[in-house]
Amino acid sequence: MVRRLIAFIKRLPRLYRALLAVLSVSVLGLMLLPGNTDSVVDGQADPVLMQDGSRIVIPLELPAAVTSVAPDADSLAETGAVVSEVKSKGVDESRMWQYEIQPGDTLTGIFEKLHLPMPDLYQVLEADESALALDDIKPGVKLLIDVDSEQLQMLQLRFSAAHKVTYTRKKDAGFEFSETRLPGVWQEYAITGEIGRSFSIDAEAQGLDSRDVYQISRLLKEKINFRRDIRKGDLFEVLISRQYVEGEETGETKVEAVRMMANRSPVSIFYYDGSYYDEKGRSLSKAFLRYPFNGNYRVSSPFNPNRHHPVTGLYRPHNGVDFAMRSGTPIVSAGDGVVTRVVNHKYAGLYVEVKHSERYTTRYLHLSKALVHKGQRVSRGQKIALSGSSGRVTGPHLHYEFRIAGRPVNAVKAAIPIAKHLEGKDRKAFDSLLKQYLARLDEALPKSDADNLVVSQRAGGSGETAQSL
Ligand SMILES: [Zn+2]
Repeated sequence: MVRRLIAFIKRLPRLYRALLAVLSVSVLGLMLLPGNTDSVVDGQADPVLMQDGSRIVIPLELPAAVTSVAPDADSLAETGAVVSEVKSKGVDESRMWQYEIQPGDTLTGIFEKLHLPMPDLYQVLEADESALALDDIKPGVKLLIDVDSEQLQMLQLRFSAAHKVTYTRKKDAGFEFSETRLPGVWQEYAITGEIGRSFSIDAEAQGLDSRDVYQISRLLKEKINFRRDIRKGDLFEVLISRQYVEGEETGETKVEAVRMMANRSPVSIFYYDGSYYDEKGRSLSKAFLRYPFNGNYRVSSPFNPNRHHPVTGLYRPHNGVDFAMRSGTPIVSAGDGVVTRVVNHKYAGLYVEVKHSERYTTRYLHLSKALVHKGQRVSRGQKIALSGSSGRVTGPHLHYEFRIAGRPVNAVKAAIPIAKHLEGKDRKAFDSLLKQYLARLDEALPKSDADNLVVSQRAGGSGETAQSL
């Protein structure tokens, strides 16, 4: 093991060997200092945080050390900076650095702490223009960094076990971007409960996480006033799927069905083919606009997922449609939703992202002005920005992206959802799925509750029932 460690250290770039030496000396210093037990766990340096003067040394670990020292789970959890084990599959990860994003981290800060050249960061940002995944790094996202010859060779973001994006150096001209989304295995859970204080408190107490509760509240916002309509003793039932990859929960969930009482009448929604419907097959989502502006503008660059840069030859997909328009043209939201990003990007310029549902997102790039802020609710057709020529452009235009489940589609041609009633084949498929949902929900309820539950579609007492449709 010691020999492996030495061999590993020898393979490191000079800079890291120097850094390692500094670290070892400070660890030794800490161990010799009496009473400084906070930083020393069982004779091992605290693996997470090391104060070097006023500078914080980034908590990176050598993979060899990770396997030789069983990390103290409690001390790791305490500091929050957990560096997970390296699974060596495919790429040679033995010489790579792992880091988990902490609150307050910025990419620039991480590059500085790692002494990575800033031009590498710009090249990564350039490769990211088509995905803008780096604008989504939140605490908890893991980074895998490959440095060779004091140059960044590869940067990987692991959003979850199922979702990774990778920037790989192709030539000195830059990096190429690739994204993996594994389908994983979805396991269904039924969560039922009774309102004691509020839906969010009681649902979380039964095992729904706050994100799911928020999503359900948003889905039902036009049917239920959660402050007024919910009463103590009302029952709620949620069918939810959670995603697993290699047995590990990825954090991705899908609300499949909800039934609850509101103002003494039952309300239910069911997931089918990307959208939510009520028990009569009526869509809850509203139509999208085909174009996020009024008037006609020429397409100056079409959607092209296979585009390559004309000079460098690097893969540079064009994930949106460009419309030539003079700066200052009003841009409207393509649908109802919440503004999830207002960002100024070196290459994409000032851009706005709107999340319309768990499934649909739109992006508007190269703006001159944003008229909304992050977290703001917007409705279809609402003015959200003015077009412009910010970022790297050859002329003023709007770059418009439509994404379904994270994947870009051609906004001009794609079958984007319109408000509809399910009919024909769709209706038959929906009805048979509905039967399964209801059966599973009923199964999940204790017998006595199932008998009393007005929401239960079998009761038939309150007008039309779903199963008789
Ligand atoms: Zn474009």
